[in-house]
Amino acid sequence: MPDDTRTPLKAFPRAERAMAPEAALTAEERARILAKAAAFAPPPAVDEAGRRELVGLSREELAEAMAGIGEKPFRAKQLWHWIYHQGARDFAAMTTIARPMQVRLAEAFAVGRPGVAAEQTSVDGTRKWLFRWRDGQQVETVYIPDDDRGAVCISTQVGCTLSCTFCHTGTQRLVRNLGAAEIVGQFLAARDSYGEWPTPKGEEGRKLSNIVVMGMGEPLYNYENVAKALTILMDHEGVALSRRRITLSTSGVVPMMDRCGAELGVNLAVSLHAVTDELRNEIVPLNRKYPIAELLAACRRYPGASNARRITFEYVMLRGVNDSEGEARELVRLLRGMPAKVNLIPFNPWPGSPYETSRPEQVRRFAEIVNAAGYSSPIRRPRGSDILAACGQLKTDSERKRATAGGA
Ligand code: SF4
Repeated sequence: MPDDTRTPLKAFPRAERAMAPEAALTAEERARILAKAAAFAPPPAVDEAGRRELVGLSREELAEAMAGIGEKPFRAKQLWHWIYHQGARDFAAMTTIARPMQVRLAEAFAVGRPGVAAEQTSVDGTRKWLFRWRDGQQVETVYIPDDDRGAVCISTQVGCTLSCTFCHTGTQRLVRNLGAAEIVGQFLAARDSYGEWPTPKGEEGRKLSNIVVMGMGEPLYNYENVAKALTILMDHEGVALSRRRITLSTSGVVPMMDRCGAELGVNLAVSLHAVTDELRNEIVPLNRKYPIAELLAACRRYPGASNARRITFEYVMLRGVNDSEGEARELVRLLRGMPAKVNLIPFNPWPGSPYETSRPEQVRRFAEIVNAAGYSSPIRRPRGSDILAACGQLKTDSERKRATAGGA
């Protein structure tokens, strides 16, 4: 959403922008985004009985929680193993912990999972969960199987502020951010569903081998919780997914992209969907704040991007809107010199959606042009569309109950 409070990037001389992008983007701008995120903070992670949730605590916080009941740091290490390696949900199952201590832990703490309000499996094997949190809010999570592996698409917000016009989630106002416990909890619950505990050795042969942060919400508008959750999921003594197996998708929250790259180093995907500011302003309204040139500059300096770890550009194919051959050529021009690939996503209609899917021959022609320029441009098969689990189709009935300031 347009926001007049931001410091215009143009205020910084071109040379400074090139040499010191961090400075150019200003700490002030990031602080503003983080303050907005805090205004949509999740409720405290405690259960009905007042017990503190252990899922979602960092290692340091877990050690502090143990110190709070007079326990030594090794107890935190033990719990970490049980929660994230073994998938234990019950202290009584933690057999390396003596019974009296199990009882003590169960009095003060919980190892929770989201409630499963609904679970559906598509004819193509895609599985979608509607998870419900303690305050009644709901999000959707999707598992997309692929031969002997698969990706869990996790949500980061209930609703979304960004109103991308092709996206069903965008029609649902932002209710609140998810906490780290809720973000991690989606993956743990998906693993429960497939019985993939304890954590398999190595990364090969896992059913739940990848995470894509592409569900409901804009993850970089909930950066702190997302970063904490992904750090937990990457920890090598737990779920142990490497950063190469995690892809975070943003609509282009430029000031947070540098921080995400530096601190998390996960793969980056960018929802591009248009090659001119005029059109992108319309279909991805965040573009009015961070236009294409700024977005691509942030992509070019994204740490770790290389031919082995290319930046993914998502491009939803909307018939007669953004799918011309000229636009394919302009896309190639924009990406020149960048380690990139382009995912072409035939538009997945949802009830009341204003667009039509591009004709298959048009999608193929677009792909050919991008491919011919040396960029891989797979045409994504819609997955789980019979259960509204495909890209841009997620939505829940959660509504914002409290009055808060506008979008992030
Ligand atoms: S595409 Fe992503 S950022 Fe845009 S409205 Fe949908 S969920 Fe929000």
